[in-house]
Amino acid sequence: MNKSTIGCLLVALMLLGTLFGCKQAAYEPGAEVFSDTLYVEKFDNLPQDFIMGVDASSVPALEAGGVKFYDFDGVETDVFKVLRDNGINYIRVRVWVDPYNSEGKGYGGGNCDIDTAIEIGKRATEYGMKLLVDFHYSDFWADPSKQMVPKAWAGMKIEEKTEALYQYTLDCLNKLKKAKVDVGMVQVGNETNGSMCGEKIWMNIYYLMDAGSRAIREVFPDALVAVHFANPEKITNYQDYAKKLNYYSLDYDVFASSYYPYWHGTLDNLSSLLSQIAQTYDKKVMVAELSYAYTPDDTDFFGNTITAGSMVEKDYPFTVQGQANCVRNVIDTIANRTTNGIGVFYWEGTWISSGGTTYEENKALWEEYGSGWATSYSAQYDPNDAGKYYGGCACDNQALFDAQGKPLESLKVFEMVKTGNVIEPRADAIEDSNLMVDLNGKIELPTTVNAVMSDNSKQEVAVDWGEVDYDGMYSGGVNKYDIVGTADGMEAHCFVSMVEYNFLENYSFETGDDSGWTVLGGEKLDELYVENKPTDSMTGACHFHFWSANPNTVEFALEQQVSELPSGTYKYTISIMGGDAGENAQIYSYVKINGEIVKTCDMEITVYDSWNTAVIDDIEYTLGDTLTVGIFVKCQGSGNGAWGKIDDALLNSK
Ligand code: CA
Repeated sequence: MNKSTIGCLLVALMLLGTLFGCKQAAYEPGAEVFSDTLYVEKFDNLPQDFIMGVDASSVPALEAGGVKFYDFDGVETDVFKVLRDNGINYIRVRVWVDPYNSEGKGYGGGNCDIDTAIEIGKRATEYGMKLLVDFHYSDFWADPSKQMVPKAWAGMKIEEKTEALYQYTLDCLNKLKKAKVDVGMVQVGNETNGSMCGEKIWMNIYYLMDAGSRAIREVFPDALVAVHFANPEKITNYQDYAKKLNYYSLDYDVFASSYYPYWHGTLDNLSSLLSQIAQTYDKKVMVAELSYAYTPDDTDFFGNTITAGSMVEKDYPFTVQGQANCVRNVIDTIANRTTNGIGVFYWEGTWISSGGTTYEENKALWEEYGSGWATSYSAQYDPNDAGKYYGGCACDNQALFDAQGKPLESLKVFEMVKTGNVIEPRADAIEDSNLMVDLNGKIELPTTVNAVMSDNSKQEVAVDWGEVDYDGMYSGGVNKYDIVGTADGMEAHCFVSMVEYNFLENYSFETGDDSGWTVLGGEKLDELYVENKPTDSMTGACHFHFWSANPNTVEFALEQQVSELPSGTYKYTISIMGGDAGENAQIYSYVKINGEIVKTCDMEITVYDSWNTAVIDDIEYTLGDTLTVGIFVKCQGSGNGAWGKIDDALLNSK
């Protein structure tokens, strides 16, 4: 049977269904999805009803501005049909209460109010997909950093707000029901990590979630009620959320998590954490948001969250195949390795460029149709973030369609995981190399690099870096370079950092102890140790801490002896902050050669977070001598003794 025969049969079946007034037959996907290039490793035991979802909240705003979507044959097609035909069985849509300013101008991000949700829901339903309604209970974006109360509910006491949220949820869901939208699941809140709708106390959050849950049960008794959190890498937070919801006996079915692989920990962690919650509280679990870059490049003239240089976990290359491998592995994790795992939603798989050919053209579209992440009109509601940084899409390079609206080969992964598509692995990308070179060192670029194969395995291949300006790099001081070469016909990058070599051990106390250092004196201090407290550290998590309750008790030195230095000229730097030094404090950094102090630099402590850095330059050292660097602190104190923090000691060659 060829493709067109199958298509005709499907149409005929659908017509029959309509003629005899029966419910539209369940969509049977799979027949038409094939690929010559996409490698998909099969796995067993995928449940028939496993949720393959895509958040498509931006579609109406994009289309209003002229964006068109296509199928794999290049034919302009309803994007919801394209999704359905490639294995998607669920659509997710965010809902904001009132994303408009006083003049009726939309805040952007798709201007997703309930009317937008109904439009999206009707189209999803038309193609046999269910809808997940994602109530943010805010007038604009709600996430771990922001859970702003809707304008209309501002200033309400919790009892009133609970009632308002209940009525609002009831009203929205009744509208969806009236429009005959197939609502399968509803979220009470979006990424509600300890706050929601302006509330930060768990009891109040519970009241609100409970109100939402009651409304859902009332209007759609068969729909699943979901809660949604972010940052599964913070394990105890998740355990705490689940425990709190259990404590308050919230009536819900699904504990959902965002999973952005760049930041959110490993898949093993995700599966064990969600399994634990599923087992302990007898809940279903799922991934409510996932996305991965198919290219490092921006396509809409508005900078993206993830770029080539992003310092994030990059388990797959930023390619179409890399994106597909990521999706495949997340589905595998939730379906096969997670207790009660019911599905995976890809976030904003259809959020592509607004289609303009310049920044100005797109900006006009974002403002007019709300197809960017935020418009200037959002300033009334969110002046400090959206109102300042409004613009286009920051994740167009993570969509499942290209900038022209054509589906990426990776879209097929949702269908292909059911059958697998194990074809000959090919080289898909070259893994980036990183090199840190001391300013006095020699730059030795790697002669081979790893090719990442389409099955995500790696193969070593030769690399040609072409003409490299080594002289420029040697004379350029502390700097970073992106060396571009060729390997296996593909672009290769070596990121070279020229750094000052630090000859000190444990320079920032990040071992969590004073290893490498010697403490002299200090017997009368109450506290003198390495402390792990990032907010009090200059860099990293740890620093050397001192404090004393009594006056005239602060007197100590902290030093490190260095041997095996090459002869030459050196520079020593160390920093301190603190307070309550009192009269006649004596604080200085020092350098000793063969036990004799040869240079010092006076320092002071004033107030919290005011770091004082001492630099001792032109230290002449000859091989065979012993060099010691240190800091001396003596304070009378003011009332109590003094307190302070010492961090980041550097010994660099000049
Ligand atoms: Ca962009």
